[in-house]
Amino acid sequence: MVTLQRRDLTPPYRITLIPGDGTGPEITEATVRVLEATGVPIQWEVKEAGIGALEKYGSVLPEDVLESVRKNKVALKGPITTPRGGGFRSVNVALRKLLDLYACVRPAKWYKGVRSRYENVDVVIIRENHEDLYAGLEFPKGDPAIRVISELCTQAGMEPIPEDAGLSLKVISEKRSERIVHFAFEYARTYGRRKVTAVAKDNIMKYTDGLFYAVARRVAEGYPDIQYEEMLVDNMTMQLVQRPEAYDVLVLPNLYGDILSDLCAGLVGGLGVAPGANIGDDLAVFEPVHGSAPKYAGQNKVNPMAMMFSAVMMLRYIGEVAAADRLEYAIATVIAEGKYVTYDMKPHRDDPTAVGTSQVADAVIDVLRRLD
Ligand code: NAD
Repeated sequence: MVTLQRRDLTPPYRITLIPGDGTGPEITEATVRVLEATGVPIQWEVKEAGIGALEKYGSVLPEDVLESVRKNKVALKGPITTPRGGGFRSVNVALRKLLDLYACVRPAKWYKGVRSRYENVDVVIIRENHEDLYAGLEFPKGDPAIRVISELCTQAGMEPIPEDAGLSLKVISEKRSERIVHFAFEYARTYGRRKVTAVAKDNIMKYTDGLFYAVARRVAEGYPDIQYEEMLVDNMTMQLVQRPEAYDVLVLPNLYGDILSDLCAGLVGGLGVAPGANIGDDLAVFEPVHGSAPKYAGQNKVNPMAMMFSAVMMLRYIGEVAAADRLEYAIATVIAEGKYVTYDMKPHRDDPTAVGTSQVADAVIDVLRRLD
């Protein structure tokens, strides 16, 4: 069973820190500084993954990174580049799979001062991380397996698969659906949320999305204190752009979750302020939604707030709720004041008054000190 607010970790907290690459180390440095200013005692165990680790240790995800997270239970991670082509497996995907971090949690909350078409949005996307069309069960055009599957389809009275087709299989299992929906309800309960909306498309995909809904309905019965509703994914996208304030916690299979989490990030100011976490029953890795933005690496330019908000989520997870509230308030104050924010939060991207990554951290620390 998942724990969303741990009681077994005590200060000083030992936490794995994976700075990542590209702009990762800069935003990590900024985030570590604001965490220090909260006064929560953390002993970081710094671990390298990605291309740097490949050059030094011969692996993009050395075993001791995994061991460190397993031992400490909690990690804070910067983004890691996945070079295109060349058989380079995504470190991010591997980390989630190998540590069985099955729930991807992406809150989309509007803060006063963020330039957006919407206000009062406070939605949390809970996306299943392992299966669905992302399970990696894929065959290229011409693969003999496609012919075998096509024959099975015709035997079952379905249309054959065209010979010039590639094939990706959608897999939705009862167990994994059950645990992600459980997770969503536990999340709602732990964080005082009122409603869980299950999102899929069972009118078309009866045996996969239909199974997801059937399981969700069953799990919902065990949480009478939390409202449960279902929404077809196409309708959901429209509802979210028309009245996002009507939604609370959304639980979705992998693909829909991926798409809707970007949509929701767009509702509240974009990637620069979009935090995330990948959580399993006993382990959690907190990381911004965005990637490594390599073109800005080393320029002290990108917004560290997505990683700082991820750190807020981490503080709540380890039970440091008061510190989390203070840090969230301090970041929100800097946003509302609008002075010490990076280029992406200004009306124009080339605004000369935009500050750098490290100045945002200074401003957040300044607010934290004023609170003391
Ligand atoms: P990206 O998120 O790095 O960048 C997309 C756009 O958003 C760019 O214009 C970028 O400049 C901007 N942006 C990103 N972070 C920002 C920030 N903090 N502040 C301001 N602007 C920001 O996505 P991409 O370009 O598709 O990917 C770059 C690399 O990151 C790829 O190798 C990809 O595989 C990797 N990636 C890693 C993760 C992860 O580590 N979890 C997630 C997504 C992408």
